[in-house]
Amino acid sequence: MRQSPAAVVAAVDVGGTRIKASLVDRSYTVVTQTTVATPANIREDIGQVVTSTVRSLLADAPAASLAGVGVVVPGLVDEAGGIGRLSVNLGWRDLPIRDAVAQGVDVPVVLGHDVRAGLLAESRLGAARGHANVLFMPLGTGIAGALMLDGVVIAADGWAGELGHVVIDPDGPVCPCGQRGCLEVLGSASAVERAYAAATGQSASAEEVAHRTEAGDPVAGEVWNAAVAALGRGIVATVTLTGVDRVVVGGGLAQSGEVLLAPLRADVMARLTFQRPPQIVPAALGDRAGSLGAACLVWDAL
Ligand SMILES: [Zn+2]
Repeated sequence: MRQSPAAVVAAVDVGGTRIKASLVDRSYTVVTQTTVATPANIREDIGQVVTSTVRSLLADAPAASLAGVGVVVPGLVDEAGGIGRLSVNLGWRDLPIRDAVAQGVDVPVVLGHDVRAGLLAESRLGAARGHANVLFMPLGTGIAGALMLDGVVIAADGWAGELGHVVIDPDGPVCPCGQRGCLEVLGSASAVERAYAAATGQSASAEEVAHRTEAGDPVAGEVWNAAVAALGRGIVATVTLTGVDRVVVGGGLAQSGEVLLAPLRADVMARLTFQRPPQIVPAALGDRAGSLGAACLVWDAL
């Protein structure tokens, strides 16, 4: 389809606490963007919430002509069916998100998964450019994973990539998913905060634990190293099973930079025996990866 030079897509990343939205042109330049709090009634009103966010973006860019809308959401997502299968955080099950949004706009709407879309964006515009076999691993309050193998982002009907719920330590703490010792309860930012509080009786953010580790605090260092070791095991399992040769680490915990990445590289290298060693690099697109990925999805569909 031919688009006018001012054609843009609206890219909307609906998260547990914030909705990040932007208008993005064909060369992936962000024309305008906004962030709003995710309303409590998002489940019932997702169509209206997304369309009113898109309208407010268009009001900021009067020359822009809307060609499509891409929406990405967390949880289990049926991209082909346009359905949010399950999001524990946002409280929905089998929600027909694409159709709900399509009722409010007269352009095509595409639904995607936030982390798989983020991987797509990192592969086109960011830290995975030029790589065909990639693990994208955002580390925050939870841990997500998305895989690109032979240049294809793997969805498996929405079930692929639940790296946060791979069991690392069968005797570890109980995970909200019902298993014990999942990567998410050992290696996420929340896991670092819980372990530090348990060891010291003090509360500190994961970022602060990283600072204290860097400053040589032995208790912080022990907590940090345990999280790094859990992440290393998760990465090595993924490398062994899939053959990825590039690991892109994103999310809040990746803001710690080399305090995380340097020991993580060393841990992974020490665990590998025959496998191809992956490059472990920080994500490049930050918290805009999901919405840029939504833009990739909808431009691809037009
Ligand atoms: Zn779990």
